[in-house]
Amino acid sequence: MASLSDLPLRDSLRGKSPYGAPQINVRYALNVNENTHPIPEPVAHDIVTSLARAILSVNRYPDREFTELRERLAGYVGHGLTAENIWAANGSNEILQQLLLAFGGPGRKVLGFPPSYSMHSIIAEITDTQWVMGERDAGYEISPQTVVESIRRTQPDVVFLCSPNNPTGTHLSLETIAAAYDACDGIVVVDEAYAEFAPDGAPSALDLLEGRERLVVSRTMSKAFAFAGARVGYLAADPVIADALRLVRLPYHLSALTQAAAVAALEHTPEMLAMVDDIRTQRDRLVVELAALGYTPLPSASNFVLFGGVDDPKGLFEALLERDILIRDVGIPHHLRVTAGTEAETSAFLAALADLTTR
Ligand SMILES: *Cc1c(COP(=O)(O)O)cnc(C)c1O
Repeated sequence: MASLSDLPLRDSLRGKSPYGAPQINVRYALNVNENTHPIPEPVAHDIVTSLARAILSVNRYPDREFTELRERLAGYVGHGLTAENIWAANGSNEILQQLLLAFGGPGRKVLGFPPSYSMHSIIAEITDTQWVMGERDAGYEISPQTVVESIRRTQPDVVFLCSPNNPTGTHLSLETIAAAYDACDGIVVVDEAYAEFAPDGAPSALDLLEGRERLVVSRTMSKAFAFAGARVGYLAADPVIADALRLVRLPYHLSALTQAAAVAALEHTPEMLAMVDDIRTQRDRLVVELAALGYTPLPSASNFVLFGGVDDPKGLFEALLERDILIRDVGIPHHLRVTAGTEAETSAFLAALADLTTR
């Protein structure tokens, strides 16, 4: 069998490894921040009906502009936005990739603020965009001064911010986002994959879109909407951003089936989002109970909790796995990350952890 080094691979890809959150069959999968509640069955039936209708015309290419989906998404995000402000793709990962294809690339830089979503730097590599890193303040916060200092130092063409941030759960202030925008003339992307889990009334970068044509807010149906397997991400921005992405998207990138499924799910937004409150309750419970066990959980505005005070993260990860519980080692020393699941899943995790901690 040949190995990768036998192939004429692009130099920038040599020695790299693919994204690899383990996909292991376990009873309690709390490792990739999915919504662990299945979608309600009546909604599933409606989605199937809609898919059945769509499949009758799959001999034709789908609507390249996915107009109905963009209208639905605009209605969902509100803020006075219309279909022209929305763009969608197969997961927000593809949104981010399209953004770097259009605004990054060879000779250009994207600035990120680790620890953050691991795909940000991987997508930079895939698109041959130089990945440069900014600093965070204590508690993983980023103040306006800190963001501006990092931008002045690195002179990026694209800035990736993430709020609430994965894996820390940290929420960014609108002052920080606005300061980042004013400090550069590049594209500022705010990855809001977990926006729905933030406290009620928490500000969103959507509040800043007006008059800022280089600001992009990336969202996804993978988390709050319990739609990770359907692969639907989207962005909200000035309509000119979609014009840029039309230059790099593959024609018909969103299949007719994806569009039909997402439109049907959005027709049931209240039922699809019904579990968000429960998940937030379990997240808050995780913070309280992890602290009671002697760990140091970070405050979280998302559907997961990063906790410190772990003597041996690898050992604890393995011990939990032996009990059929999969969480995430994100590579931060003495920390692990756990997704807030159903009440039963959260209880199982906490009981196993209590047991392993007192030994
Ligand atoms: C999970 C996650 C996404 C979601 O990616 P999709 O491709 O939409 O499934 C995006 N950004 C962050 C920060 C995430 O944690």
